[in-house]
Order: sequence, then structure tokens, then C-alpha cells
Amino acid sequence: MGKIKRYLDCHIPITTCNLKCSYCYIAQLDQFQNVKPKVFHTLDVEKKAFSQERLGGPCLVNLCAGGETLLYPDIAGLVRVILENGHYVMIVTNGLLTHKIEELLEIDYELRKRIFFKFSYHYVELKRLNLFEQYFENINKVRRAGASFTCELTPCDEEIEYIDDIKKRCMDNLGAWPHVTIARSDIDPDHRIPHLSNLSFEDYINTWKVFDSNLFNEKIKFFYEKRTEFCYAGDWSLFVDLETGSITPCNCGKRLGDFYDFSKPIKFRAIGNHCSLAHCFNGHSWLSLGDIPEFDIKNYAELRNRKCADGTEWLNPTIKEAFSSKLVEQNEEYSELKKKITNFCYRFY
Ligand code: SF4
Ligand code: SF4
Repeated sequence: MGKIKRYLDCHIPITTCNLKCSYCYIAQLDQFQNVKPKVFHTLDVEKKAFSQERLGGPCLVNLCAGGETLLYPDIAGLVRVILENGHYVMIVTNGLLTHKIEELLEIDYELRKRIFFKFSYHYVELKRLNLFEQYFENINKVRRAGASFTCELTPCDEEIEYIDDIKKRCMDNLGAWPHVTIARSDIDPDHRIPHLSNLSFEDYINTWKVFDSNLFNEKIKFFYEKRTEFCYAGDWSLFVDLETGSITPCNCGKRLGDFYDFSKPIKFRAIGNHCSLAHCFNGHSWLSLGDIPEFDIKNYAELRNRKCADGTEWLNPTIKEAFSSKLVEQNEEYSELKKKITNFCYRFY
């Protein structure tokens, strides 16, 4: 195993959540729904859909819902099937659905060691609901079970006065400070995808850089920077809607096919120079994994890991090795001619 052939960012379109964060993208778009999510496809279908034969090799599969990912029914079954196909699974969660986390940790160790939990640290909500103990205990269950994790704070203006406490709680419970992302606004009429804060970007950076987070320090370098290079999203990585099966190159780009249509192979086609987004707001994954090979950015392990005071690390050796690789190591770069043809043909897809 080791190196990752493709990155699949899998969207689970449920918009139900057990929290109500002020900066939530679902809340911004007024899309919260209090309905019980349904299973989209049977595990037999998922097994076929995620076969390495279709996907070309071991992939990093990110599972992220619009709301809370672990509310998807039988999430443990879905994760198990993906792991059995030889992939790595990343699960984005607020870390509070204890029984679901425990179910995931019942998966055999040989499979479980390829799970990476991205625990979002929703400090204001944890404080309001007095859930710190449960949150950190669940993360430590994951750690004791030999799976990998990261803890990631979404900075918001309400949290500024609590920065010392945010750091201390994480240090006391997880041995290191949390990583920090950049909250974005999804309702900007000019589609600039701006940072979500009353602070100027410069002040925002100065406020949140105190966490010494590689994730934050790398993201600020390209946030607000339009990407114009040739991008391999669509070939080396995909964005997949796990309900409809729709495949697109990433958060933008034309539809490439149906993930659940087994009558034909998936057509992997790079988006090339046709990125339509104002900036690569999720470049901490797309870019650090290597969708633009010449783009200078730390690897994904460096963005997610933390070394703890006692010498342990948040990533286990299996995940650390996989996340340290770049997609170019398992994929061939296009010739200049192939890039030109790819760009030309894109308009006809
Ligand atoms: S936990 Fe996530 S999905 Fe739920 S309200 Fe907070 S940001 Fe939104
Ligand atoms: S540059 Fe980023 S946002 Fe644009 S297509 Fe590539 S991965 Fe997607």
C-alpha cells in the first residue's frame, strides 16, 4: 500500500446536524433540515463503486456531509466497505456521536488503521452545550484504537477572546494545539469566496497565526489567489456526490459521469486550465495532495499531523506514510501536447 493513486472527495448531501455553529455553510445558505437521513445505496453497490479496478488503485476517500457526516445511517458499513477495497478513509465529524464513533472503532485493526478522523473543534458550541469532556474523550478513544486524527478549529470572531482557553483545552487533552482552517463565506454576491470575519484578512492572519498551524500557514499563502496553472483535478482527483453519483473534477468543473453507472468505466479527465473558482479554497487538500504538481506546498501529512509533548503523533505510521506522498508519484504528468488537447476538448465535454 503506501501511496495514493487518486483523491476522492465524497459529498454526502445530508443537511442535518446536532450542532448549530454560527459560521456553518449550511446555516449561511439556510439549508438546515431536521430530517432523518436515508441510505442512498446498498453496501453491495458501494463495494462495486469503490473497487480499485474502477478507480485505478488505492485512493484517499474523504467522507463529508453538508451537516454531520456520522448521521448518515450505517456510516460504519460504508467505511468498512471502502476500507475492504484497499483505500484510506477520511471522516469529517464534529466528534459528538459517541455510539457512531464506537461502531467505527469496532472495525478490524488492520482496516481501522487506514481511517483518519478530521475532528472539527467547534469551541463555541462545545462551550454552550458543555460537551468538552465528551468531545475530547471521543478523540482519545480513536487514538487508543490506533486510528489517526486531527483536530481543526474553524476560526470565528466570537472565539477570539477564548484563544488561550481553546489552546489549553486541546493541549491538555490531545497533547498539542489544534490546527486552524479559514472560515469562508458562501453567500458573497461576487463569488469571491471571502474569509468569514469582520477583520481584514491581514488582521485575521495576525489573530489566528498564534496557533502555529501548518494548515493555516499554508492556506493563507494561496487564499484569494486565482489558480491559473494546469490542474489535474478530474483525473488525479474527483468530487463525487454519494447520493446522485455525479462526478465533477472538484468543487467546480463539468460533470464527468455517474459514479454508480457500472455499464461504462469512469472517464478521468483533467480540468486543465479551466478552473472557474475565484481561488482554491480547499487547496489544503487538493493542492497539498498534488493536483498541481509544481505548486509549492507542504504535503498533507504535514498539514494534518501534530507532534505531542510526550513525543506521540496524531497520525499513525500508516496514514503518515500515505499522506506524505504526492499524487504525481502514482500518476504520469501529461506532455505539453496532451495538455493542449485536454484544454481544447474540455469545451466539448
Ligand atoms: S458541526 Fe458542522 S455541520 Fe454542524 S452546524 Fe457545525 S459547522 Fe455546521
Ligand atoms: S485549482 Fe483547486 S479549485 Fe481549481 S480545479 Fe484545481 S483543485 Fe479545483
